[in-house]
Amino acid sequence: MQNKMELYMSRTFSIIKPDATRRNLTGAINAVIEAAGLRIVAQRRIKLTQAQAETFYGVHSERSFFGELVAQMTSEPVVVQVLEADNAVPKYREVMGATNPENAAEGTIRKLFALNVGENSVHGSDSDENAALEIAQFFAEEEIVG
Ligand code: UDP
Repeated sequence: MQNKMELYMSRTFSIIKPDATRRNLTGAINAVIEAAGLRIVAQRRIKLTQAQAETFYGVHSERSFFGELVAQMTSEPVVVQVLEADNAVPKYREVMGATNPENAAEGTIRKLFALNVGENSVHGSDSDENAALEIAQFFAEEEIVG
């Protein structure tokens, strides 16, 4: 039988970016995620290919920073994750902080760890619809264990 908590759980997709894995910050970032009440229900360390990064950030393909973004995302391994919580998408966006760490609130991952607007340590989905698409790009359903 499903309990009440499970009924309200939703998922978001997270990436711990190369600037963070390079500085050995995976555990420190996961500690912030878990302390905020998000559960890491799937996780894998991978090296993104050029094609994977271009597909993932396809929405930004016309932006001036696209080439730099793809180069950065493929420069070192990343950790891809599925996070589960009540209202996971907005909750993780709050825990991540603003895109530019200069504007990020105290205690957020980007305020604590990001180097600059490009090397900003984490990605998190911006809608439930994108979360589902992004999760499906990297995880099979049986790899997600809630
Ligand atoms: N980005 C950048 N320069 C910018 C805006 C964005 O390098 O002026 C990069 C940055 O790494 C950011 C990613 O592109 O995390 C995606 O941008 P988006 O606006 O979707 O921000 P996010 O959802 O990651 O906060």
